[in-house]
Amino acid sequence: MYADLHAHTTASDGSATPTELVRQAAALGLSLLAVTDHDTTGGVAEAMRAAREAGVRLLPGVELSAEGPPGKCHLLGLGIDPGHAGLNAKLEQLSAARRARAARIVERFQALGVDLTLEDVDAATPDGANVGRPHLAKALLQKGAVATMQEAFDRYLADGGPAYVPKMVLPPAEAIALIHDAGGLAFLAHPGLLKLDAGETPRDRLLALRNLGLDGVEAYYSQHTLPQTDRYLDLARDLGLLVTGGSDFHGANKPGVPLGVVTNGHGVPLDALPAILRDWSAGG
Ligand code: AMP
Ligand code: ZN
Ligand code: FE
Ligand code: FE
Repeated sequence: MYADLHAHTTASDGSATPTELVRQAAALGLSLLAVTDHDTTGGVAEAMRAAREAGVRLLPGVELSAEGPPGKCHLLGLGIDPGHAGLNAKLEQLSAARRARAARIVERFQALGVDLTLEDVDAATPDGANVGRPHLAKALLQKGAVATMQEAFDRYLADGGPAYVPKMVLPPAEAIALIHDAGGLAFLAHPGLLKLDAGETPRDRLLALRNLGLDGVEAYYSQHTLPQTDRYLDLARDLGLLVTGGSDFHGANKPGVPLGVVTNGHGVPLDALPAILRDWSAGG
């Protein structure tokens, strides 16, 4: 019995539709799946319908980028109510900011002499998706301006790159409160990828986030080593934090990260997760 509580769909920058994602999870025999798109719950309703058909349990989720004290991080909201008005009002602001940002990135490309238009970006972005840098990378690929999506990041779109424009983000305290307001639990995503300040330890960061209401940490993660996983499992135990785990599956948009696989090729055993996640129920 395995779970994957971190996966993206075409509602943000994944390549699989919510239905395709759920069917893949079912084919792998996963019993619990969370859809955690960037700044949107737009894929959850379709995933719920597909999950009922496929016999997979589905946790509605969201992944929020946060910046501000105590630092930059990604937060996963698990078990949120996807119809929560306050959450969706804020997510709509973040989506609108993403569209404005895509237009600014296109202007950067034009200034750099790269022939890219907003129409090209739209053509590379699934209908209704929250536009992100992977869609810009795909648009560049389709225009033949780069040979691979990775080249688009390396030459232009990576943090600090010539076409990089930051996106609207929430302070961690606000992101955690928003997740709680929507009935969910807030987890620090992929702690092994954190950029810590000089002298700051992972424990320091987790304590600071716990003071803001953080509920848990994503100890099991596709890019964590076994020692990293053990370290975050120990820290979670010491600090009284819950544990979650997921792949961060993006399909073809993130090659080499298969669904259902975390630390060193293992899955997340259902019984490694806290009962509150295992037994989460949407009320029928
Ligand atoms: P955005 O939320 O629009 O800023 O896009 C962030 C996404 O872009 C991440 O989830 C990654 O999938 C991808 N990404 C960011 N930086 C890189 C990079 N240097 N190389 C490849 N993909 C990246
Ligand atoms: Zn992503
Ligand atoms: Fe993330
Ligand atoms: Fe993610």
